[in-house]
Amino acid sequence: MEPRDLSAHTVYRAGRGIEEVARELGLDPEEMVKLASNENMFGPSPRAVEAIRDSAGRMHSYPKSSHADLVEALAEKWDVTSEQVWLSNGGDGALDCLARAMLEPGDEVLVPEPGFAYYAMSARYHHGEVSEYELSKSDDFAQTADVVLSAYAGERIVYLTSPHNPTGAEFTTEAVREIAEGTDEQTLVLVDEAYGEFSDSPSKRSLLADRDDVALLRTFSKAYGLAGVRLGYALVPEAWADAYARINTPFSASELACRAGLAALSDDEHVERSVETAAWAREYIYDNLAADTWESTGNFVLAEVEDASAVAEAAQEEGVIVRDCSSFGLPECIRITCGTEEDTEHAVSVLNDVIEVVES
Ligand SMILES: *Cc1c(COP(=O)(O)O)cnc(C)c1O
Repeated sequence: MEPRDLSAHTVYRAGRGIEEVARELGLDPEEMVKLASNENMFGPSPRAVEAIRDSAGRMHSYPKSSHADLVEALAEKWDVTSEQVWLSNGGDGALDCLARAMLEPGDEVLVPEPGFAYYAMSARYHHGEVSEYELSKSDDFAQTADVVLSAYAGERIVYLTSPHNPTGAEFTTEAVREIAEGTDEQTLVLVDEAYGEFSDSPSKRSLLADRDDVALLRTFSKAYGLAGVRLGYALVPEAWADAYARINTPFSASELACRAGLAALSDDEHVERSVETAAWAREYIYDNLAADTWESTGNFVLAEVEDASAVAEAAQEEGVIVRDCSSFGLPECIRITCGTEEDTEHAVSVLNDVIEVVES
């Protein structure tokens, strides 16, 4: 026997890990700096670490009250009902939930190119088909209503990323509203705010108040430093929020994740410090990297080099891991995650040496 036809399905290419690269190159993992996966430079909130330790002895039970407590805390934070918070196994899990709730076999979705690979993957898992709207490098990847609406052809879900990965560009709230108004009544506009904390612009949350066709995605993986526990959620309109109960996998967010998430939510200081340091690091990279950069509102900066794979590989040999954006369709771009001051300065210095050698 065989699985179904998976030829249209792509494999997710994650940033490479320190242990993996260190082993391959015979380097000391302690000496390496990984700025390839937009993880938090300070690690998890100490409160989350403590909560995980404290709850370890309760792992024999299903996450029932912790799940309810976290949903309630998030509902309060966003001023929505508990039903509108769709807790999930990472932000990726929220994408799956929404695809499962929306897509009939053969339904089309519209995704950004370049963009986050999992939108298309998730849609295809749920028997959807994928079209793209183009963010143009010559236009500095500008995210406007026009760019999306001119590619729109009645798709069921339109994915918007704001701040956008890997470019760092944003949509204004007005642009999102225009897109929601310019698309069919039965089209969901899904705004992925995985990097929302790092931006000075407000969340698109305000659109949920008066529309039933806009949903948001948020995650604990980036600003909260909990990528390893896998915790995210969607905020959906009240009108169809009850669909979650029909499509959710039982206990999709683990006890550890819910406990860690609750603790991290109460640690404003950790998030503020992460956001401020990312803002500093972006400026440092714009000012000091020997390459053109795009202004970013996330915890990363996209930079233009001649040959991203050569630069990323050479930097890796010097112990600095950045993201080669070839898999995003940008073979001349690297994406550098904002690190601590020390790591960012070190990475820029190594990259500048490497760029000089590779491009000479
Ligand atoms: C990181 C990321 C997510 C969510 O990641 P999870 O770890 O699954 O929460 C979603 N969208 C974009 C654009 C991302 O970069």
